[in-house]
Amino acid sequence: MQSSLDPRSITVMTALMAAVLGAVLLGVRRNYPAGIRGLLPWALAPMACAAAAGVYAMQGLAPDFVVAQTGNALLLTGCGLFYFGTQRFHGRRVTWRFWGAIGLASLAVLTWFLIHPDYRVRLVVFTATMSACVFAHARLLAREGRGFAARLVLVTLLLQAAVLVLRGLAAFWVDGAASSRFAMTTVQTVYIASYCFSVLLLSVGVLLMASERVREEFELLATRDALTGALTRRAVLQAGEDEFGRWLRYGQPLSLLLLDLDHFKQINDRHGHLTGDRVLAASVATMREELRVNDRLGRYGGEEFVILLPSTAADAARASAERIRAALAAHEPAPGVPPCSASIGVAWSQPGDTGLDALLARADEALYRAKAQGRNRVE
Ligand code: GH3
Ligand code: MG
Ligand code: MG
Repeated sequence: MQSSLDPRSITVMTALMAAVLGAVLLGVRRNYPAGIRGLLPWALAPMACAAAAGVYAMQGLAPDFVVAQTGNALLLTGCGLFYFGTQRFHGRRVTWRFWGAIGLASLAVLTWFLIHPDYRVRLVVFTATMSACVFAHARLLAREGRGFAARLVLVTLLLQAAVLVLRGLAAFWVDGAASSRFAMTTVQTVYIASYCFSVLLLSVGVLLMASERVREEFELLATRDALTGALTRRAVLQAGEDEFGRWLRYGQPLSLLLLDLDHFKQINDRHGHLTGDRVLAASVATMREELRVNDRLGRYGGEEFVILLPSTAADAARASAERIRAALAAHEPAPGVPPCSASIGVAWSQPGDTGLDALLARADEALYRAKAQGRNRVE
């Protein structure tokens, strides 16, 4: 079957486009925080693909062997670099030795079938190697990737792998041994065009993945207390207002605990501020173990914490508070970290409450009573 789209022109266009995408990725790399890994391999990947396409396009102008093997080596490198970038991005070990060995073995076999020319066998060997790498990449993303960008990259990889496998299989009936890269067949055109789309979608996809990661990190910075990992005061109060809205609208009960560590100043004075910090972090870890998935824990200030218990009525809230108090009092958090009990004030939503402030005020009064009555208590 003849195609009116000329594979060599597509290849040249791919080369230009991939080079631009690589340059863009390399350029924006500096705008991302250093904590976002994998951007360099991701930027070099389309460049390697661009170089591969540029070399392939020189078929007829340079010796066939040189064109084929340089192009193949560069394309395998590009495919590997996309994968290695994703490995780094997800904090995985980069398996470049393993895939480098597979690439070299594949090139060795290809060399043999260039000396004893058979385009069909070369195509099968090459597409098998590429699809193995693309599949491995897709598998990693299927496990680790979250969000739209990761799904875009995953779908692109799966489509590319499918095209590679089909092209390899098609070799047995559409190609002869003397067939060539720029044969004007529809199968060959689709095969080459698929590289063009893949490079475009993968480059855009990884750029979006990096942006999504930055957004997640900023969100985390804005809502999490750096020392303890609890929600910040603002974040927990916002969550509290949302939950209070559910109480007003649907009568969904809401309970709130206000918790203050006992004689915390003494810990600072006796053991130093650093130990005090450790006690704070360890106390939050202990509280977390006693909470359910929907409960929210926030640092209200210094060594005071707010705990929101959605869909929880008075009795259950008291029981929760008692569990937390007991856990903190019993807890020897870590070697060198002294235990620290807490006093807890419990409040729950009541008819007539107009805002979260009403609960906070009642919890604060209860906390004051708990302190007055000797601490390590729930009121
Ligand atoms: P009480 O049982 O009455 O609550 O006694 P207390 O010593 O815990 O009371 P107070 O609220 O006066 O002391 C809180 C101390 O917590 C004072 C402050 O120096 C310390 N603190 C606040 N934030 C931090 C922090 O981030 N790290 C450390 N190490 N100490 C902190
Ligand atoms: Mg205190
Ligand atoms: Mg206090």
